[in-house]
Parts: sequence; C-alpha cells; structure tokens
Amino acid sequence: MSQYLIDQINVTNNIKVCGYMVLTEMHGDGRLEKITVENIKTGSKENVPADSVFIFIGAKPCTDWMELNLVRNDKGYLETGRELLRYENFKKKWKLEREPFLLEASIPGIFAAGDVRAGAMNRIASAVGEGAMVSKWSTNSWPNCSQNR
Ligand SMILES: Cc1cc2nc3c(=O)[nH]c(=O)nc-3n(C[C@H](O)[C@H](O)[C@H](O)COP(=O)(O)OP(=O)(O)OC[C@H]3O[C@@H](n4cnc5c(N)ncnc54)[C@H](O)[C@@H]3O)c2cc1C
Repeated sequence: MSQYLIDQINVTNNIKVCGYMVLTEMHGDGRLEKITVENIKTGSKENVPADSVFIFIGAKPCTDWMELNLVRNDKGYLETGRELLRYENFKKKWKLEREPFLLEASIPGIFAAGDVRAGAMNRIASAVGEGAMVSKWSTNSWPNCSQNR
C-alpha cells in the first residue's frame, strides 16, 4: 500500500486498523450482514456486524513461481537497473563489464516491467509505458543485452 494512503488512514478517526486479522467468512440473507474475522496470532474468531466490504488486492508480487534466481528485494519484487548494484549477490552473478540497463533484471536480457518491479510507480500508465519500452528494445534488438558496451 502507498505511504500516502497509510498516512491518511492513520489520521482518519472512523477507521480502525486491526492487525493480524483475516476475513474468513461473510454472512447474510440476500445482503451482507456480518463478517467473521480471525486473529492469525491467537486463532480466535469474532463476528462483526458489516453491510459492506472493500477487498484490497494486489499487494504481493507473486514472483515465487520464477525458477530463475533473479535478485529480489525483501518483499519479493524484482530489482532492476542500477538498484542492483546495491546487492552483494548481484555482484557475484553479473559477469558483464557493463551495468544492467534500465528495467533489466539481474540476468542479462531479462527485463521487468510494471508492478512486479521493485520501485515501480504502481500505476497503470507507468506499467504500460515500461512494457512498451521493453517491447521496443526487444523488437529492435537494442540494447544488445549479451554484449558489453
Ligand atoms: C486495488 C487497486 C486499485 C488500483 N487503482 C489504480 C488506479 O486508480 N489507477 C492506476 O493507475 N493504478 C491503479 N492501481 C495499480 C494498477 O492496477 C497497477 O499498477 C497495474 O495494473 C500494474 O500492471 P501490471 O501489468 O504490472 O500488473 P498486473 O495488472 O497485476 O498484471 C499482472 C498479470 O499477470 C498475471 N500473472 C501473475 N502470475 C502469473 C503467472 N505465473 N502466469 C501467468 N500470469 C500470471 C496476473 O494474473 C495479472 O493478470 C490499483 C491497484 C490495485 C491493487
């Protein structure tokens, strides 16, 4: 979640943040009437009256399926470009003399675009723009990723 949203939530009096709580059930007859929430630390469950639910999805990068050992940040997002230079394990892997290109991941010729990329803007327009950049580079065979500059 973006920091500006966290800040707004923290100063909004009618929002209560309940840590470690997971929505497990929704109940109602024709319409929502109550929800069941579970405390994942204690396992205790509680029914709470509710007539609406907002589900906020999309906060996990879901990069576990990639077998390639790409450098990720502590949350699992793929690091790209000059940000990679901060990682010790990157320096051991990267064999080229040149630095990684903008949006290039820790294996030459593999790029990350959109939300999956560490430091992404998390906006539709930027994801589309980054995808277009990578697509353009690959169709033009530029940059020649396997070569040193
Ligand atoms: C609740 C919410 C509200 C938002 N509101 C706005 C907004 O108002 N304006 C705005 O600009 N941005 C908004 N965003 C951000 C915007 O949705 C993202 O920045 C944008 O969708 C990123 O695009 P993407 O292509 O990188 O990723 P995604 O849109 O997440 O696309 C990734 C795709 O890959 C698929 N996928 C994942 N794993 C695999 C796999 N193993 N195999 C095959 N497919 C896979 C997923 O199913 C998904 O379809 C919002 C995001 C959220 C979560």
